[in-house]
This record gives sequence, structure tokens and C-alpha cells, in this order.
Amino acid sequence: MDLYEYQGKELFRRFGIPTSEGRLALTPAEARAAAEQLGGQVVVKAQVLTGGRGKAGGVKLADGPDDAEQKAAEILGLDINGHLVRKLWVESASEIAKEYYLSITFDRGEKKALFMLTTEGGIEIEQVAEETPEKLARLHVDPLEGYQPYQARRLIYGAGIDNPSEQKQLLDIIGRLYACFVGTDAMLCEINPLIVTPEGEVRALDSKFTVDDNALYKHPDIAEMRDPESVPPEERAAREKGVTYVKLDGEVGILGNGAGLVMSTLDVITLAGGRPANFCDLGGGGDAQGVVDALEVIIADPQVRSIFFNIFGGITRGDEVARGILTALEQIGIKHPIVVRLDGTNAEEGRELLAEAGPDNLHVEPTMLEGAKRAVELAA
Ligand code: GDP
Ligand code: MN
Repeated sequence: MDLYEYQGKELFRRFGIPTSEGRLALTPAEARAAAEQLGGQVVVKAQVLTGGRGKAGGVKLADGPDDAEQKAAEILGLDINGHLVRKLWVESASEIAKEYYLSITFDRGEKKALFMLTTEGGIEIEQVAEETPEKLARLHVDPLEGYQPYQARRLIYGAGIDNPSEQKQLLDIIGRLYACFVGTDAMLCEINPLIVTPEGEVRALDSKFTVDDNALYKHPDIAEMRDPESVPPEERAAREKGVTYVKLDGEVGILGNGAGLVMSTLDVITLAGGRPANFCDLGGGGDAQGVVDALEVIIADPQVRSIFFNIFGGITRGDEVARGILTALEQIGIKHPIVVRLDGTNAEEGRELLAEAGPDNLHVEPTMLEGAKRAVELAA
């Protein structure tokens, strides 16, 4: 789960990483009130789950409450890389002498956490890695050994930071960031820029924070940070029903049981000359309610012209799946042509059931390729 900047900064603060004081604002009037409370110059920042807000006009300095209200009105409603701005973070503006970059993430190849630090902050880290790789200090933390302060010193020297006061503050921040990363079960904690003020104070000016979804049960407070409005409405509806749903661009809606089967179904639809509109994964099951939920999600997409239902019966028996499909079709009237490929355990019985009791728009095919070809034909 990705967190907004203001949420990531809240977690930073819990672990003692210095940030600026700020307030959340949903309207220009709230931004004005926030600026009044904070006093002095503020920065008004779009809260969207994407980077590059500065370049897109989503980060603006304001001289006081009036200006903050105006800047808020300019930023709210902006589209930043397809993300609509509905929330603002208004924080006390910082004076910036230097912009550094600090992050910790997983290096899956090494099976270790990886710190990266560079004095070339403020720009995309990929650009630093490409253009000036020698300026990017990288350091792995062995999970068995755990974090040790000497590692932070090595990282700081590696990045060429020789100011003793900065070194001391960074040593502290790096240790705290490691504690934050582990303590929140994060997959990424990125601070870009990590600034040095003219007074020499080091502070996190931005936050990019991803928490492992599978660990959210351990962190109910973080799980609550999820913003249901940050995902498209159809994906939200699917998630509420417990259906795995992904929107794509073509005409054939795809339903299957199991991620591997669904992935190969996408390929076979493409092979047959069609394009998938979306896909749903029923997981291991195929009970009527699961099928109803998935079909409802699929047909909510106006691009869908036909549906390919690809089922391999393993533990779930084919005749049970067939009954599930029939019950589902009785419950929701679907006009779209539906092609079913049913194979595996009790597939024969399942196909017979479908052929006997199925409605006219239900087409049963014996193999995946034949099913895909039929679904593509019917979508034309
Ligand atoms: P991003 O573009 O989405 O990464 O958003 P950031 O939070 O990193 O802000 C973009 C840039 O805006 C930063 O690199 C800074 O240069 C600038 N900026 C953000 N906050 C402040 C601030 O408090 N004072 C000043 N002077 N500049 C800021
Ligand atoms: Mn940034």
C-alpha cells in the first residue's frame, strides 16, 4: 500500500525523523486556516500517489494565508499523471541550502535491505543512477546482523558528505529510518529531498512510503490510512467484494481461477487476435457468489463485448463450477456472449450441465485456444 506524503511523514515523526510542521487541507479555506495557524511562509503540496508533483505544478510556495488560499485553489482539481488532486498538505516552508536523497528498500536479488544516499537529491534517483552513478552510495543491511551504526558511517562517507554536523544528524536519521522501515513492515521509505537548511539542520521534505500489504494486519493504524478514493471506482467495487480485478484496454472480459491460468488466458486471447478488456481472478474457488461478484465487476466495464470464462477444475470440481455459473447467470441477467472453457476434474459433467441448462448466450468450448478464438469472434 502506498501512502500519501503526509501519512509517510506522520510515520517518520513517530520514529523521530525530523520533518516540518504542517496541516491537511481539503479546501482553499482550510489551506488559509492552516497557513494562519502555521504563520510565515508555507508550501502548499498536492497529495497524490505519484511523484513529480513539483514539475506538474502541484507544489507551490505561499507568502501567507491569502496566498495559500489562492495557491490551494490552483492546485486542487489538478490532474497529476492521471491522479486528481483532492487533498493538500500545507507545511511551514523551509529554506533549502542543499538537497540530498536517502532511501531504504529491498534488493530482492541480494535478499537484503538496501540503503541509498546521495548529495544529488531533488531529482529522480534513476537519473542520478544513470548519469552520475559514482555519486550514489549503496549499502546492504544483512538481516541476520541487523543494522549497525558503522554501516551508516560507511554510507555517509560513501556519499562524500564531510560536514561533521551533517554526518552526526544523518547517522541519527539513518538509524531511525531503518527502525521505521522494519517497524512498519515497509517495502520502501524514500526521502527526496532530504534537505540541509542554511542553519545546517537536516530534515525530510518529502516522503514516498510503501507498506507491505501482507503485513497490514499487524498495523491496523496504517491499514486505516488507505484512501478508498485513491483507486478507480470499479477496482474499489471489486476490492470490496474481495475480487482480484485489473482493468486493461481491449474488448474481451476475462475470468479465471488462479493467477497463472489468468495470465496465460491473457496471452491466448492475444494469440487469437483479440485484446483483453480486464481480468478477474476467482482464486481457487468457483462458488456461485464468487462468480456473480466477478461477473458484475467485469460487465461494469463498458468496453467489454464478450466474456471468456476459463476454468480448470482441480480441487474445485467442474460440475460444481458449472452449477455456480448457472446460478450466477440466473441471478444476474447478462446480455454479453459468454464463452466457457471448462477442463480438469469432472469437466465432462460440468460441460454437459452447461450445455443442457445454459442460456443461449453461453458457449461451451473444450480447449483454451478454441474458447479464446470464439470469445474474440464474439467481441468483433
Ligand atoms: P515531488 O516533486 O513530488 O517529489 O515533491 P517534493 O515534495 O519533493 O517537492 C518538489 C520540490 O519542491 C522540492 O525538491 C523542493 O525543491 C521544492 N520544495 C518543497 N518544499 C519546499 C519548501 O518548504 N521550501 C522550498 N524552498 N522549496 C520546497
Ligand atoms: Mn520529492
